[in-house]
Amino acid sequence: MVSKLQQSIVVESTSENGALGGLRMTKQRKLVYDVLMDERDHPTATEVYIRSKERMSSISLATVYNCLETLSAAGLVKQVNVGRDASRYCPNLAPHAHFICGKCEEVYDIGLKNDAEMESVWALPEGTRIDHLEVAMKGLCAKCNAKQKA
Ligand SMILES: [Zn+2]
Ligand SMILES: [Zn+2]
Repeated sequence: MVSKLQQSIVVESTSENGALGGLRMTKQRKLVYDVLMDERDHPTATEVYIRSKERMSSISLATVYNCLETLSAAGLVKQVNVGRDASRYCPNLAPHAHFICGKCEEVYDIGLKNDAEMESVWALPEGTRIDHLEVAMKGLCAKCNAKQKA
């Protein structure tokens, strides 16, 4: 998994002219992106809005939704769908799966073991290339599982 430090280096190197991943960063987009980067707990759009408002009181929920959509479309942010609940947002661009705890609803980033190639993890047909990984696992996180056993 790419560490926070590594990822911020990647971001800096692509944002010299105010663009990130080819996307023009408006003040609002940058703010929404920063909110996601600062606390990587897979917040919903509403939670992103509450946090954004603390830094820019004029920002609206509609603007936050727009920014999230644009950032997702540009591939800078991943949308995580947790059952029928509101989508969550994840700025981790390293290949990873999501583990969703059925009890506390916490979402965890699950990286690949020992920097494994994505292709080597699955029984893919020979010659297949993965461009986008979207894997969700459900179960009980270690904390909830321990509580359940006790
Ligand atoms: Zn849990
Ligand atoms: Zn994630």
